[in-house]
Parts: sequence; structure tokens; C-alpha cells
Amino acid sequence: MVEHYDHVVVGLGALGSAAAYHLAKRGRSVLGLEQFELGHARGASHDTSRILRHSYHTPEYVRLTQEAYDDWALLSVDAGQELVTVVGGLDLFPVDAAIPLDDYTRALTEVRVPFELLGAAAIEARWPQFSLPDGTVGLYQDRGAIVPAGPGTAAMQDLARRYGATLCDHSPVASVTDTSVTLADGTVFSCDSVVICADAWTAGLLAPLGIDLPLTVTLEQATYFEPERPEDFAPGRLPLWIWMDEPSFYGFPCYGEPTVKAAQDCGGPPVEPDSRGSDVDDAMLGLLSDHMARMLPGSGRAVRSLRCQYTLTPDRDFVLDRVPGHPSVAVGLGAAHGFKFAPTFGRLLADLATGERDSVSPTFALDRPALTDPSYDAHWLV
Ligand SMILES: Cc1cc2nc3c(=O)[nH]c(=O)nc-3n(C[C@H](O)[C@H](O)[C@H](O)COP(=O)(O)OP(=O)(O)OC[C@H]3O[C@@H](n4cnc5c(N)ncnc54)[C@H](O)[C@@H]3O)c2cc1C
Repeated sequence: MVEHYDHVVVGLGALGSAAAYHLAKRGRSVLGLEQFELGHARGASHDTSRILRHSYHTPEYVRLTQEAYDDWALLSVDAGQELVTVVGGLDLFPVDAAIPLDDYTRALTEVRVPFELLGAAAIEARWPQFSLPDGTVGLYQDRGAIVPAGPGTAAMQDLARRYGATLCDHSPVASVTDTSVTLADGTVFSCDSVVICADAWTAGLLAPLGIDLPLTVTLEQATYFEPERPEDFAPGRLPLWIWMDEPSFYGFPCYGEPTVKAAQDCGGPPVEPDSRGSDVDDAMLGLLSDHMARMLPGSGRAVRSLRCQYTLTPDRDFVLDRVPGHPSVAVGLGAAHGFKFAPTFGRLLADLATGERDSVSPTFALDRPALTDPSYDAHWLV
């Protein structure tokens, strides 16, 4: 007997867990399948924290962040715990920054999201932890926030189950069709729709459906530093920050422990997700530690590092669409900046899976030029 579900979700990281939660909450029968154990550290949704912010490079993303804040607020109510910690966000643009300040000010202005522009001296007066090169401009947006990575994903899994979803781990999916999912052990489930949230493993699942998805998987590294005076780096004393240059770095105030977390954006080597290791990369650690010693001299020494995967589209835009020619198969991919949008991905993927909408945006479409034109010039720093 083949078990039938209204929807099968492949992959239970943040995005798939959110999709399972939203579909189950709508009274649908849902099966969620994860190849590893729930909460594993081999994908992109583990560890303590992720940035949620309004400051983005296009009005479309800024508007989507407004939905994300609302969706996190609804999720917090449903979960019975506040999942969003507002700490303020500071984007730092040195002279001749590789990432254009104008894109951010224009996008925020068009969507009427308030922000402040501050010079280096004003930033150092307000947050004396910083030591900045002359000419640096900071864009401060007071709703910059931290959301929990692993615990946030687990909260969505708990809610999905509470609404009746069946979540199975150690269940690797070998293939999907419009109306069925087959596990590596040959078990088949039938369904009305499939939602694929497999991040680094997405291309392999879409190829049999005629989609050649150009993804680059990189092995990133986040590091925790131990300041001598952690009280100086507490929420309210230090905002989260992003260094908008090449190389680009970002970091958090203390969050649940007396350490300061930081990392480089797009600094890791390309890897194959099934054969990659998790050892600490000393060169990446050195580059980040040098930056921290210069910009946040009191942040202290590195005490631990962890690895995590980025899955990059050539234009760093999401995939949030149905598969062309296979309308019952929907795909969600966060392009290494999707966690802040996880509950929103879940809601929009549920809309696609239930037919409440046919598409989300041309920007996130599977047939857009960046994903179909082999000569597209990839760029990841936005
Ligand atoms: C170091 C780091 C920092 C980041 N910081 C931020 C940030 O501050 N803000 C932000 O918004 N985003 C951030 N991101 C990006 C964000 O974390 C990811 O976009 C998001 O977690 C992706 O979630 P996911 O569920 O798509 O992927 P994953 O968590 O990787 O989940 C995919 C799941 O699918 C499973 N799977 C794959 N293939 C199969 C199969 N065949 N059968 C069954 N299961 C399968 C995998 O095992 C995995 O569990 C960061 C990412 C990293 C690595």
C-alpha cells in the first residue's frame, strides 16, 4: 500500500520545516522527509543565530523583509516564545566600498523604512567598541534583529507536528515526480504536491525534472570571540554589524553567551555537500581575526569555530517557484541569505503547493536568465 499525503516536503532545514508548519496549519496532510537527523549540522540552518534586517539592496527585498518581521511575530505567538531579539543593525561602508551604499539608502527610502547615516566619529562616539577607518559611513536601522537558527528551526518542526504533520528523519529522498516521492530504500509515497527545500542538494533532485540549476556550494565558517568585558558587547550596547566591502564580514552582539560571533560572507571554498569536511580553516580564521582586531579591538580571542554551507545562485537571488512543466512541484532555496525569511518562505511555498498562487516573483523564478543563461556573470556580494 502506498501511503498518500496532500503534500510531501523534502528537506527539513529552516525552509522545509517552515513549509511543513504552514501546510499542516492549513489542515493539510503533510509528510516531511529529512536525510539526516533533525537538527544536524551538515546543512545551513544550524548553530545559534541569524540576522534579520530591513536593510537590503532592492525595494523588493525590503518589502519582503516587512513580511518576514510579521511572519516571525506570528510564529512567535504560535510557538509561545519570542523568537526575535531586536538589537539594531549597522551596515558599515568604508571609502570605495565594494557594495554600494546608494542601493541600500534608495531601497529603504522607497519603502519608507527609517534609517540613519552616521560618520565614523559619530559611530565611535555612540559605540566606542568600534575603531573605524576615516571616511567610513554607517547605515543604522534600529529594527535589526537576531533570530535563533537551530532553536528556530526546531520550533517550526514542533509546530508542524503539533498541527499534525509527520516528520521523518534518516529518510533520504532519491527522486520526485509530480505525484510521488521515492526514498533511497525504494519506499514510495504518493502525494498531490511536492515541496523541495533541499538547499545544497537541490540541483540533483531537479535534474530528472529537466532543470539544470547552476548552484555553487561553499563551506563557510563562523567564529566565536571571547571579549574581556562581555558587558560592552551586550545587546543594547553593540548592534549587529555588516562590513560592506570585499572581503565582507558580519557579526553579532552577545547572544545567550558571553561571546561575540562573527564570520566572513562568501569567504569559503567551493565544496561538494556529500564529501565536505568540517575542520576549522586557519586561513579564514586568520583573516577574520585580523578584521576583528582592527574594527572591534575589545572582541578578544577566538574560542571556537564551526562550518556551515552556503548554496549560491549566480545572482544571489532566491528560488521560490514551481518547476516549469511540473506545477505540483515547488522549490524554495535561500541563496545563503534565506533564514531571516524562513517563515515567509514557508507561507509562500504553502501558497504555491495549495494553488493559492501560481508564482511569487520573476526575481525568484526558475526560468530567469541568471539560472538559464550559462554566460550569466555571477556576483554574490550584494
Ligand atoms: C554561516 C552562515 C551564516 C548565515 N547567516 C545568515 C543570516 O544572518 N541571515 C539569513 O537570513 N541567512 C543566513 N544564512 C543563510 C541561511 O542560513 C540559509 O539560507 C537557510 O538556513 C537555508 O535553509 P534551508 O532549509 O534551505 O537549508 P538547509 O538547512 O541546508 O536544509 C536543507 C535540508 O534538506 C535535506 N536534504 C537535502 N537533500 C535531501 C534528500 N534528497 N532527502 C531528504 N533530505 C534532503 C538536508 O539534509 C538539509 O537538512 C547563513 C548561512 C550560513 C551557512
